[in-house]
Amino acid sequence: MARYDGPKCRVCRREGGKLFLKGDRCYTDKCAYERRPYAPGQHGRGRVKMSDYAVMLREKQKVRRMYGVLENQFRLYFQEADRKKGVTGHNLLALLEQRLDNVIYRMGFANSRDQARQLVRHGIFSLNGRRVNIPSMQVKPGDTVLVREESRKVPVIQEAQQVIARRGCPDWLEVDGENFKGVVKATPRREDIQHPINEQLIVELYSK
Ligand code: SF4
Repeated sequence: MARYDGPKCRVCRREGGKLFLKGDRCYTDKCAYERRPYAPGQHGRGRVKMSDYAVMLREKQKVRRMYGVLENQFRLYFQEADRKKGVTGHNLLALLEQRLDNVIYRMGFANSRDQARQLVRHGIFSLNGRRVNIPSMQVKPGDTVLVREESRKVPVIQEAQQVIARRGCPDWLEVDGENFKGVVKATPRREDIQHPINEQLIVELYSK
């Protein structure tokens, strides 16, 4: 299945929540969902009674789109989360959070996960001293992400660093903005993920 590349705000309105797909704009009052918090289209404001299955499906789609993961890949994350010890839903969110593109977004080296994915593909970052270009790579505690010296003047990185204060950096990461460096301090816990996600619905969907 191809990656969706239509209007991003439409996705938030369809999923009924902010997915933070547009960088800094998502944190301002220009956010389309803040202004029109109902589904897009002519009948968007109509009341729709969703079945239990539809509710679970929508939650899965919301999280999948938030992290920019394709359907098959998302299912693989679920299978891995299910194999691990602990609560499957929490494991799933931790796996998604530990994707390299998400970590770069969280560290403030990119304005959105989409942008982070693109920058990683261009080989702008190194992980533990080695150049990387795979956005889905998993990071682990102790890993160091660095913006490579020759890429530090890239305007999008400079811009992103200016707006990180607005959304803040989670506790499981440490950022040294001056040196364009970030360290993964720990595995993300459920409480580190502030987005309103009901991961239990996703677990139930895949357990059917
Ligand atoms: Fe979603 Fe608002 Fe960001 Fe648009 S601006 S992508 S509606 S959170």
